[in-house]
Amino acid sequence: MYYFDNAATTKPCEQAVQAVVNGLTKDFGNPSSLYKLGLDAENIVEAARKEIANAIGCDNSQSIYFTSCATESSNTVVFGCAKNYGRRKNKVVTTGVEHPSVENSFSELEKQGFEIVRVFPDDSGNISAEQIFSEVDENTFLVSCMLVNNETGYILPVADAFKKIKKKYPECITHCDAVQGFLKIDFKVKQLYADCISLSGHKIYAPKGIGALYIKKGVRIAPYLIGGGQEKGFRSGTESVPLISGFGEAVKFFSLTTQKRLEHAKSLKDYLKTKIAECKGLELNSDDDCSPYINSVSVNRIKSEVLLHYLEKREIYVSSGSACAKGKKSSVLKAFKIPERNLDSTIRISFSHETTKEDIDVLIENIIKAQDELCKLK
Ligand code: PLP
Repeated sequence: MYYFDNAATTKPCEQAVQAVVNGLTKDFGNPSSLYKLGLDAENIVEAARKEIANAIGCDNSQSIYFTSCATESSNTVVFGCAKNYGRRKNKVVTTGVEHPSVENSFSELEKQGFEIVRVFPDDSGNISAEQIFSEVDENTFLVSCMLVNNETGYILPVADAFKKIKKKYPECITHCDAVQGFLKIDFKVKQLYADCISLSGHKIYAPKGIGALYIKKGVRIAPYLIGGGQEKGFRSGTESVPLISGFGEAVKFFSLTTQKRLEHAKSLKDYLKTKIAECKGLELNSDDDCSPYINSVSVNRIKSEVLLHYLEKREIYVSSGSACAKGKKSSVLKAFKIPERNLDSTIRISFSHETTKEDIDVLIENIIKAQDELCKLK
């Protein structure tokens, strides 16, 4: 199997799998129980919390809350902020290239009467910190900007934008969906100037169904789930000890190698770029400044879904745009100024530390075969 869809999800690492098994078979206590089995489970949860805090350079692990996924983390920020801060102020600033977990939450707020300002890439496909900052005013209670775009790998100027915003409007809450950047490009809480950060387990070799939310001390986000008061009353519901433990173990293992893996991803991207330059009808949409893990490639004259299934038959897995777009023409690619003719012939190739140059050779060979066979049929 040749798996090039690591931006959609990753294969859990052995450490994470083992931790999940232990959490299901051995440490199955409820972290809220007062006897030893419960305390053991609680210790596992707290150890995982510390790993995640360390990985993003946060000294207080109590600023990390476990959620079921990054979608829940971002929904909690959007709706929780609106509830607490949206009574006196009415405006939110975000970008026009956010993941649906953020974009669709803002569309909901828009229906409720909030003003949502979306900042789009300029003619060259870039978004500047100044563009985001200039939309913020005294009436803005939340700014949300993703770190790495999930369709193109484009890295947004979050730190610069948030720094300017916090300096002029210290009360404005800053949120970053850092899902595609976590343990891939190095970032630290303090340098990002983010009050809230959404993270996901399954993009970094942990299981699906577990996410985290960093909330800076003092920031008041209304809870989304109410009940037994777990997670210090912020996110009720019995903690999923196995998944949290798996998340913690994956973070522990991979946080040691962020730089090394980034170098590997860069060398893969360079290789992919050279291969693409040698082929007719292939265009790399992700430039050198993008995260090397995510590469948007247009394959002229073949619909991405057709190519996806052609490759699938050869056990090669890529994504059409992003997994969430499910074959629809991507408004995000359009926003990044990918030419109209390429919008439905664009695939996403996303790497992991296990991807090799030989894998890329196989992928490119098969794309060329697809061009020969499928274009001849037309
Ligand atoms: N944000 C980004 C940038 C993503 O790429 C994804 C998943 O594709 C999410 C959020 C949602 O993550 P989760 O599946 O944990 O809800």
